[in-house]
Amino acid sequence: MDPIPSSPSASVADDTPPRGWSDWWPQRIGWRLALGFGVLVALMLVALAQAIFQIHHITGVTQRFATGDMQRLLRVQALSLQTEGVGNALIRLINAPRENRVAEYTDVDDRNKRIDGMVESLANDLHDDDQEQNLKRLVECRAAYAEAFSDTADEIEAGNTAGAWKLLNERVNPALKTMLLESNTLLQHERQRIETRLDEAQKLFDQVAVWVAGMSVLAVALAVWLGVRTTRSVVGPLAKLERAAQRIAGGDYTRRVPMTRTQEVDRVGQALNTMTEAVAQRERDIVHQAFHDPLTGLPNRAALFQPGAYAGDPPNCLALMDLARLKAINETLGYTTGDTLIQQTAERASLALQAAAADGLIGPQAVVARLSGGTFAAIFRAPNRAAVEALHERIERGMDAPVHCSGHSVDLSLSYGLADSGDPSVETAKALPVGTLLRNAEIALHSAKRAAIGFAWHSEAQEAARLGHLSLLSDLRQAVATSQLQMWLQPKFSLATGRAVGTEALVRWQHPTRCFVSPAEFVPFAEQAGYITMVTNWMLEQALRTLAAWAPTHPELSIAVNVSTRDLQHKGFADRVARMIEASGVPAKRLRLEITESGLMDDPAHSVALLHALREIGTPLSIDDFGTGYSSLAYLQKLPVSELKIDRSFIDKLDQSPGTQKLVRAMTEMGHGLDLMVTAEGVETEAEREMITGLGVDVMQGYLASRPLHGEKLQVWFDALPAS
Ligand code: C2E
Ligand code: CA
Ligand code: CA
Repeated sequence: MDPIPSSPSASVADDTPPRGWSDWWPQRIGWRLALGFGVLVALMLVALAQAIFQIHHITGVTQRFATGDMQRLLRVQALSLQTEGVGNALIRLINAPRENRVAEYTDVDDRNKRIDGMVESLANDLHDDDQEQNLKRLVECRAAYAEAFSDTADEIEAGNTAGAWKLLNERVNPALKTMLLESNTLLQHERQRIETRLDEAQKLFDQVAVWVAGMSVLAVALAVWLGVRTTRSVVGPLAKLERAAQRIAGGDYTRRVPMTRTQEVDRVGQALNTMTEAVAQRERDIVHQAFHDPLTGLPNRAALFQPGAYAGDPPNCLALMDLARLKAINETLGYTTGDTLIQQTAERASLALQAAAADGLIGPQAVVARLSGGTFAAIFRAPNRAAVEALHERIERGMDAPVHCSGHSVDLSLSYGLADSGDPSVETAKALPVGTLLRNAEIALHSAKRAAIGFAWHSEAQEAARLGHLSLLSDLRQAVATSQLQMWLQPKFSLATGRAVGTEALVRWQHPTRCFVSPAEFVPFAEQAGYITMVTNWMLEQALRTLAAWAPTHPELSIAVNVSTRDLQHKGFADRVARMIEASGVPAKRLRLEITESGLMDDPAHSVALLHALREIGTPLSIDDFGTGYSSLAYLQKLPVSELKIDRSFIDKLDQSPGTQKLVRAMTEMGHGLDLMVTAEGVETEAEREMITGLGVDVMQGYLASRPLHGEKLQVWFDALPAS
């Protein structure tokens, strides 16, 4: 079982898109825009150049048309006019009286010269064979006309007007007519040429228009295409990035941003991928930290309750292991030693569990978690309780070797609370939730510690007791308020004089339905639930009231009230006791406070300080149940106590146990060495009394001398006391 679902790492697939026909397409947005705009500008330039070139060409054509063709046409037209005009001039010449003939000649000559000039210039500007033929005929006609005109002029000079008229009509006019005809043909020809030219020019115009329009359409189409392509090539990858960012925001780190063909976007994508991996790694680290204990690297309490942590075979057993004396070790040997001890316990327990899983003693998915301080939980599947107890032995063997740290050699001592879901071979046995297994194991651990045995299984009886205690606790408040509690006093006697030296106050609870409830039954739970303060307060009040009542006759008697560790944890406890003593008017030294040795060792540093505060009030202090804790002599020396109460377990059958006698002697000598009064608790037989007297104990308390007393019996005992 791995209680930590490992978050999947980002896949590292090669996602570069396959290269294909569009390899030419630039991979950078900058280049793409440059390409798009470059192609557009190039197309515009080509269209512009083409337009300029064509306009230039059209201008040339127009110019040629205007300078060449039109002039020629005009010349041909002028030729026709001159040809017509020369006929009329000849008629005027024939009809003119002799004295006017010179002017008429001049006119005709001018006209002839002009005709010659025109023919000559036309000859220089010929374009095709037809025109050449035309001109040739024109020149021939001109020669015929020149000859006819010369003959006609001769007739006019000869005064033969009739002959002149005849020549005019028969030769000059037909020659001129032919000339006119030819020049008209030329004119016609020129007109046709011009029309053809105009047609061609028109076509050229149309072509240029089509060209420019075509180029423009092409440019627009290309611009649209490039625009769409560039936009899509940017928007598409950006949308991919956006989707990727949303995926990352949603906690999906498995997919990488795919590579596109756009460098800038790819760089962002690459950065996103790097970021995703970093975030995923960090999240894995955070999850690991959240579910692991930094000191041992083991899963922590939260890991045990991870949803889906037990996907396969759910575990049916939980072993809670508690490292003894950790607090005291931390205080006395230092936290480094404490940490080493925790690490060693973790390592050894894990190894034992792994080996047991490998051997098939327990299921393969076994896990050790550190819950807090020196508390560990092993959770696994086991076929039966025998397997779990075998595992317990293996773990214990693993803890055998002492741990060496900072020059100290410390034994690892563990208490175990075991809980299971019932016999797994029984069909009805349902796997209990981990929370229930853990709570049951805690209860079992408590009873193991209370009974001072190595391990305890959680049982139905414990469960019933737990439920009973829970309902008892709810009654306890009521008990204090409605006087169901009683204070019983057990006298203590000096072994030397036999006289009563004081009493111990013991609480009793007359429950309305359960009758008598032993303090051993409710005090430990009242301590756990924090209700004990109420009880202590009530007992202090009763004790002080009784002391006040005793004062006139027996001011030497003291009452010792049991104080719980929970009371000591209350900051104002010493002040409260001081106030109560003051209010009662009883001398502080008449009230004793008993504090158990194990309670002191829970938090030694704090305890020392608090005991000093209590001592300052003037109240003597006793160490209760001495011998059951682990206090060292060095530690005891620091405590401002005046009495050691040797635990009942040492006194029981003391006369029959030489080993225990040595222990009691040592404890007594140690107490005396520290100037403490030594009391033996639970003295039941005469033999025990003799034994403790021989061992040097000062005070005895027990059924032999007196049971705890109350009411009438207490009064009888008190009245029988010798006057002091
Ligand atoms: P403890 O402080 O060690 O008290 C002595 C216990 O031993 C008492 O049991 C007493 O009745 C019993 N005892 C006395 N002489 C003998 C004997 O000769 N033989 C045997 N077998 N027992 C003897 P009790 O009254 O049942 O108290 C049990 C424990 O409950 C006490 O042990 C003490 O730890 C706790 N307790 C009792 N009263 C109070 C109280 O008012 N406040 C707190 N915090 N604890 C109390
Ligand atoms: Ca006591
Ligand atoms: Ca005791």
